[in-house]
Amino acid sequence: MSHGLLADPRLYDALFRFDDDLATDAREGDCVWCGGRLHRANYSRKPRGSPAALGPEYDRRFSFCCDRDACRKRTTPPSVRFLGRRVYLAAVFVLASAMRHGITAVRAAKLTEWFGVSRRTLGRWRRWWLQTFVASEVWKRVCGRVIPAPNIETLPRSWLDAMGAMDELKRVQSILSWLLPLSTTSPGKGSRISMGS
Ligand SMILES: [Zn+2]
Repeated sequence: MSHGLLADPRLYDALFRFDDDLATDAREGDCVWCGGRLHRANYSRKPRGSPAALGPEYDRRFSFCCDRDACRKRTTPPSVRFLGRRVYLAAVFVLASAMRHGITAVRAAKLTEWFGVSRRTLGRWRRWWLQTFVASEVWKRVCGRVIPAPNIETLPRSWLDAMGAMDELKRVQSILSWLLPLSTTSPGKGSRISMGS
């Protein structure tokens, strides 16, 4: 794993195109609560952590709003770029979490220098993997598919390592697509959407 991947514009292009497809799918559907029509109502975002210069398409997270006055509920499609309300990009969250494993003071300083992520934030992210993630349906499915199951203690590095044959970019994209159900609180379609491969 290297932080160099996060400077690769191909990563951001691929993630954006994937999110754009997810948004198109969501828009073609109706409001799940009332069947009303959906209008674009994107969230403005200022994602942190990328060493690459991000285009204006990264200033927003796709979201929709129901057009019926009695409802007006939001539908926010899953995203491979934004994981929930985190200010850091999902790819930074995954890679920095993976690189944190076996952390030393020197490495913590490097991660802060590369991504602007504090040691405290890294600690919070680690708790997310160890508590929230392993209690999720996604983790159950991962354990059913990846044999042997990745070591919990060293997530998400163990997971990335388990996909050894793929190149780094594909591995990170694959994990981000697995995490899709955890990227939004809007009700989804249930099935896992696969990115690439
Ligand atoms: Zn509605």
